Amino acid sequence: MKNVAILGATGSIGVNTLDVLSHHPNKYNVFALSANDSWRKMHELCLKYTPEFVVMVNADAAESLRKIAPEGITILHGENALSDIASHQKTDFVMAAIVGSAGMSSTFAAVSSGKRVMLANKESLVLGGNLLIDAAKESGAELIPVDSEHSAIFQCLQGGKEGLSKIQLTASGGPFLKTQADALCRVTPKQACNHPNWKMGKKISVDSATMMNKGLEVIEAHFLFQLEPSQIEVVIHPQSIIHSFVYFDDGSVLSQLGLPDMRSAISYALSYPSRHISGVDKLDLTKQESLEFFSPDMNKFKCLGLAYEALIQGKNAPGTLNAANEVAVEAFLNKKIGFLDISTTIEKTLDIAPDSILDTLASVVENDRVSRQIALSVIESGL
Ligand code: NAD
Ligand code: MG
Repeated sequence: MKNVAILGATGSIGVNTLDVLSHHPNKYNVFALSANDSWRKMHELCLKYTPEFVVMVNADAAESLRKIAPEGITILHGENALSDIASHQKTDFVMAAIVGSAGMSSTFAAVSSGKRVMLANKESLVLGGNLLIDAAKESGAELIPVDSEHSAIFQCLQGGKEGLSKIQLTASGGPFLKTQADALCRVTPKQACNHPNWKMGKKISVDSATMMNKGLEVIEAHFLFQLEPSQIEVVIHPQSIIHSFVYFDDGSVLSQLGLPDMRSAISYALSYPSRHISGVDKLDLTKQESLEFFSPDMNKFKCLGLAYEALIQGKNAPGTLNAANEVAVEAFLNKKIGFLDISTTIEKTLDIAPDSILDTLASVVENDRVSRQIALSVIESGL
């Protein structure tokens, strides 16, 4: 029996994880759950899964939940409590599914204490980079990707990385794949969040619409698989059936296929190196419309190019890119800036932010703070 802690349990990945666990009541125990402030949804999860610990980051939300939660559940609050459950001695597996840099400290705590860390929170790796990879090596933690593309590559690399020439991350192209570039200035948050294939949280949905999601994934792949930026390509595949490709020197190409349902990748992260039922329907390629592939339009989706530039620049640039993106996406969702202002905010923040080397967790956190301030001032000054 493995004790599982789910950080970000009320979100899209969190709920899908609980669904996969519910297929295997004899293998996994829902040990701890966390959320930011959605205490009503957490109350439902408490009734259904009776965890030992719950963390509500927001203190008022924790207080509201304490009044109605079933007896026997310890309800903690505050950010530090996330790391406490992530590194708790009874925790075996941690699902890192908080959105954004808010998930970084708890991901580090889980990695540093040698857990199996199922990594959905890609921002942790974009920010933490090799610090996170090295921490996992030191503690013996297993860092298993949950992002569908990275799970696909991880699955294709079970025979080893020798002879790998490049990888291709597949991208759906998001809701604006066919929208004319000059119409993008008018798109609304609602349109941006309406992803054609995946049902996800708002932030990653906007990231998919700008293609920053793929940009963050390029950086994620660089650190996870220790590949050069020139070995990481992006290919548009609107049907989201093939979840990525690995090219080898002998001309072979490996890929992993499946319906666009995150439970496959979540299930593999849990059952690795074996497999078990995830609840996902079987793929029937005879019923599938044709599968298409083409190159991304880098002029239309500027965020993708910015992410490659930040990765090549290295040092604090990926962290700055991520911070500016988080600030810009929030401003867009709150209708303070337009869709195309997201990439402008990121570009200007990267221009202004001073270079620095991030060699400690504290320096990563500080760079995130400073970059957010710069991004906010870029927005406030009218771009
Ligand atoms: P979501 O918005 O649906 O859920 C986010 C979760 O994080 C919620 O439980 C929320 O309470 C919690 N949270 C939000 N802000 C927080 C804060 N400041 N402190 C602590 N907790 C906080 O997001 P999601 O779509 O489930 O995505 C989660 C992560 O997984 C993201 O990093 C995303 O990029 C990644 N991911 C998601 C998908 C997907 O299909 N949804 C696919 C690949 C990767
Ligand atoms: Mg992905």
